Amino acid sequence: MVIMSESGPGSQSSPPHGRPLQVGFYEIIRTLGKGNFAVVKLARHKVTKTQVAIKIIDKTRLNSSNLEKIYREVQIMKLLNHPHIIKLYQVMETKDMLYIVTEYAKNGEMFDYLTSNGRMSEGEARKKFWQILMAVDYCHRHHIVHRDLKTENLLLDANMNIKLADFGFGNFYNSGEPLSTWCGSPPYAAPEVFEGKEYEGPQLDIWSLGVVLYVLVCGSLPFDGASLPALRQRVTEGRFRIPFFMSQDCENLIRKMLVVDPAKRITIAQIKQHRWMLADPSAPLQALSLSITDYNSNLGDYSEPVLSIMQTLGIDRQRTIESLQNSSYNHFSAIYYLLLERVKEHRSQQLSRQCGPGPRGPGAHPTRLPRR
Ligand code: ATP
Ligand code: MG
Repeated sequence: MVIMSESGPGSQSSPPHGRPLQVGFYEIIRTLGKGNFAVVKLARHKVTKTQVAIKIIDKTRLNSSNLEKIYREVQIMKLLNHPHIIKLYQVMETKDMLYIVTEYAKNGEMFDYLTSNGRMSEGEARKKFWQILMAVDYCHRHHIVHRDLKTENLLLDANMNIKLADFGFGNFYNSGEPLSTWCGSPPYAAPEVFEGKEYEGPQLDIWSLGVVLYVLVCGSLPFDGASLPALRQRVTEGRFRIPFFMSQDCENLIRKMLVVDPAKRITIAQIKQHRWMLADPSAPLQALSLSITDYNSNLGDYSEPVLSIMQTLGIDRQRTIESLQNSSYNHFSAIYYLLLERVKEHRSQQLSRQCGPGPRGPGAHPTRLPRR
């Protein structure tokens, strides 16, 4: 087999009658979503036959500060390796275009899931929320804040496990060095952001997590308003309604996350200890077991079965290892990660079968959530 140049995407040629459009080793299947500066496509790797998502960015349409943001997003993704965070496989770049190849979340956005299925039972919400919390905790431990946590950026894989996506507003932080940029979408934004104050990144994410938990359990937003000033007023006052069906423990946890004063807001460590979170011992176990069994390979500790398969495909072993060690995110790394994914997929299917999908709540109804 011949491996093409390491980083170039090769042709993004127009299909000659019925042949799929191609980028590097990937065949484009269809559009998954559109962002402000990017289009996200579903594609298939020609060698491993695995499906991936490719975020395609036309650099000529971006000003320098937006381009910087995109490069920061890539830089952050390179550092993240967690079962509940979308995995980066490859980065391809030409003079005008940037292609970010990542893991594909087959069941799409949590936003769409809630829109068609209605709010979740608290049991189901707890399982999802543990996974979300593990992902955000992992980011914070790596000094990364997400700053755009919302149901549109929480994707679901083939096993309905959470995959945190879109680090477009992500940033690095050090405690005691506050950030100041306005970030995220208004209904999920914390009071300190509305007030234009400097803020500690992790506390901002915790507020958004409070909004996320409310949305999972209620199927509607806690803070809404006919206009931005009206929304701002509700958020800065921390005023929201608790529906009759919410349990007292759940209300207690949400109220601790949606505390207006960021210094008094609950921490991730405290959330993990909260009664509502611990009501079902299988929920943290499921989130934790995936975190422990996957993705913890250290530098120089690569999967022998995957390297052997690659060798039989005629792909140079040494170059693969070098690509992984150097964080090259080229074709060699991509094939390695995609084959590794197969192994993990098999394992997580076994785990989901053991833990079960979790029941849908009674009285669940289709919801209307305004897309932000
Ligand atoms: P926005 O500015 O609207 O937040 P964006 O340019 O940052 O968008 P993303 O949020 O990364 O782009 O992707 C846009 C949409 O494409 C997502 O909300 C989701 O619907 C879809 N999408 C992105 N990545 C994936 C993926 N890995 N698997 C499945 N769908 C995806
Ligand atoms: Mg997004």
